[in-house]
Amino acid sequence: MKNSLRYTLALLFVLLSANFLMAQALKQHVDNPGQTAMDPVPDDVNHTHTGSRTQFLPAVPGGRAVVTGNGINYHGGPVLKGNPVPIYLIFYGNWAGTGSNTAATVSLVQHFFSTLGGSAIENVATTYGDTTGNVSGNVSLGGTAFVSSSKNLTDRSLQTTVSNVITSGALPRDANGVYMVLTSSNINETSGFCTQYCGFHTHATLGGVDIKYAFVGNPDRCPSGCEAQTTGPNSPATGVGGADGMLNVISHEQFEAITDPDLNAWFDASGQEDSDKCNFNFGAVSTCVTGGICTPAAITAGSKFNQTFGGNNWTLQQQWENANGGACVQHL
Ligand SMILES: [Zn+2]
Repeated sequence: MKNSLRYTLALLFVLLSANFLMAQALKQHVDNPGQTAMDPVPDDVNHTHTGSRTQFLPAVPGGRAVVTGNGINYHGGPVLKGNPVPIYLIFYGNWAGTGSNTAATVSLVQHFFSTLGGSAIENVATTYGDTTGNVSGNVSLGGTAFVSSSKNLTDRSLQTTVSNVITSGALPRDANGVYMVLTSSNINETSGFCTQYCGFHTHATLGGVDIKYAFVGNPDRCPSGCEAQTTGPNSPATGVGGADGMLNVISHEQFEAITDPDLNAWFDASGQEDSDKCNFNFGAVSTCVTGGICTPAAITAGSKFNQTFGGNNWTLQQQWENANGGACVQHL
C-alpha cells in the first residue's frame, strides 16, 4: 500500500500458468501517492494523521476491543461504519466512446454499487472495526458525476478533480463516503497507472473535510497488466473486458477505503492492506455457459466468474477475512 511497495512490485509479473487468471502481479497499490519514495514506510509514523489517531486509540475509555491476531494489524484509526457507506462515482475522460468507454460500462458500475451492499464478498468487510464499531458491509451508490476531459491526470490534478466536483455541488461533501475517479482508457494517470499500479486510494482534507478518494483507470488501456481476462462475464464483445476488469480493481479499492480510510487503521507488518493480501487472487471460479446470465461474448470466450449478485456474474478478487486466523475468502 505504500510507495516503497509501488516500486518494488512495479515490474513483478508472475504467471501462474495453472490458473486461467494468471494473476498479473502488477500491483494495484499506491495507497498514498502523496508520499515520496523516501518516506520510511511502512510504519506508524506515516500513518499518524493529526487528530484522528489519539481519538481512535483502542485505549480510549469506554472504547470497545478491536479483534486482532488474524494476519493483519490494527493501528488505531477509524473505519467507515456507515450503513450504508455511500460511494460517489466520478467518470473522467470520455465515457461516450467506443469499446468499454461507454454508457453501458457506466450503467454496469452504477448497478454494481446498487447491489454490492450485503453481498457475500462485501460482508467480509464486517470483520473489520475500530473502537466504536464494525464496518456494516453495506454500501450504496451515493451519486454520479461526469468530468469530460482529454487531459491525463496527475496525483495533484486527480485531487483537484475530486475537489472541483464537490465544490460545484455535483456531489455532496461527505467525510463518510468514498469518491472513485474512474478514467476512460484514453486517459493516463502519470504517477504510474498501468506500469506501477491499476488503482489506489488515499484521502485529503478538502474544504475542511477529510475526503476519501480513489483512482481506478479503465484497464483496457493495459489489459496484460490490470485485467484478469480480456473478455469478462459482462463483456459486450470479445476482447472488451474493461468493465469487468475495472470492477475487480474497484472492488479492491472500495474495500480498502472503507476498512482503512485514513491509511492508519488496518494493514499488516509489510504495509499491505486487506485487499492487497488477496490481490488478483480469485479463488474457485465458474465458467460462463449457455443458459446462464453471462453475455453472449462471455459464453463464447468461456469467461470465468466467482460471484453472482444483482442479476450479474462478477469476477472479483477475494478479500482478507479478519477472523478465524485470517485468509483470502469469497464470503464469510
Ligand atoms: Zn490495495
